[in-house]
Amino acid sequence: MSAAAGASARKPMPSALTFDLVAKCSTTKARASTLHLPHGSVPLPIFMPVATQASLKGLTYDQLAQTGCKLCLNNTYHLGLKPGQAVLDQVGGAHKLQGWDRNILTDSGGFQMVSLLKLAKVTEEGVRFLSPHDGTPMLLTPEHSISLQNSIGSDIIMQLDDVIVTTSPDHERMKEAMERSIRWLDRCIAAHKYPERQNLFCIIQGGLDLDLRRKCTEEMVARDTPGIAIGGLSGGEAKEDFCKVVDTCTGMLPEKKPRYVMGVGYPEDLVVSVALGADMFDCVWPTRTGRFGNAITPYGVINIRHASYAEDFSPIQDGCTCTCCRPKEEGGLGITRAYVHHLVAKETVGAHLLTMHNVHYLLSLMGSVRQAIIEDRYPAFLREFFDKLYGHRSKSPEWVINALRGVGVDLLAE
Ligand SMILES: [Zn+2]
Repeated sequence: MSAAAGASARKPMPSALTFDLVAKCSTTKARASTLHLPHGSVPLPIFMPVATQASLKGLTYDQLAQTGCKLCLNNTYHLGLKPGQAVLDQVGGAHKLQGWDRNILTDSGGFQMVSLLKLAKVTEEGVRFLSPHDGTPMLLTPEHSISLQNSIGSDIIMQLDDVIVTTSPDHERMKEAMERSIRWLDRCIAAHKYPERQNLFCIIQGGLDLDLRRKCTEEMVARDTPGIAIGGLSGGEAKEDFCKVVDTCTGMLPEKKPRYVMGVGYPEDLVVSVALGADMFDCVWPTRTGRFGNAITPYGVINIRHASYAEDFSPIQDGCTCTCCRPKEEGGLGITRAYVHHLVAKETVGAHLLTMHNVHYLLSLMGSVRQAIIEDRYPAFLREFFDKLYGHRSKSPEWVINALRGVGVDLLAE
């Protein structure tokens, strides 16, 4: 019996979400929807900021809420180490621990281990690694990952998957990882204690091989999880390859489920991925780059450390409604580029202000994307977006032009 046949024989999985498709772009594959989760409704498409160690670097949860964030990401690996499962169980989960009453998505912990710990080894049982605290051998299994996420109480939990960097030349290993990820999903489903209040998402693997991706998508869809992620991307592959994988997978996914492309955060990647039919994204980049003095704007990323900003008394971004940029008379901080420039080299508050702006920028970008889809003017939105970002849309990178042409938008046409 094939895995897909096995999956179809089992009972449908309970779901703790409802997904309302609000509008579909009549040209591209973009969708606007509303995802109703246990801690409130979330408008999609959405960018989810990553709050490592249960605190978004440089932002308090109040400030994170001010950015309009309704769903943020926590790392299971970090929460599992500290405060640890016993404390999470005692306090009643991460929402209570952090005083965050909106939604949380947690990763499985596997990616963190493989990327942070050089000695991590993957076997059929799970991911073996040495404790970063005392060097004792430890094992993260699909069952343990789900148990940790059950203790965290996150609204969306992710399966443990076998992640291989997409650029790996080892096709056999890639195939093994894809097939193992399906077997691990079955173990995650069996181990999940609270499907009526936490939504388990599967993760499609298969590297850049479209046949492996198709096979994996078919198997994952058959298991009927409440949401579906496309994983393993943003590992240094060519953007053309990235787009082909997203386009291929979304083409096979059920319309009435949320689609999450993991590890995506550059504005141009987000708007193209939406055009290819994806709904949810996460990335550490906007917060990490803020710590290096970088501000995201519609005209590209600027580094506020540059001497040219020392006497620039305009906001980080003209017209931005974030707490940092908004004028004092409108209830904001009225912060200038000159002030951030002054702070950013020596004070953490400089990085903090840029983080606030960057997270707000991406959330409001996705809000504009959603509005454009609802009004069925996403192609016009894309033209305007790339006009600003690259001076003129015809100067957009080749991969952007090709990906959008594939969904009916020609940036080179007048
Ligand atoms: Zn701003």
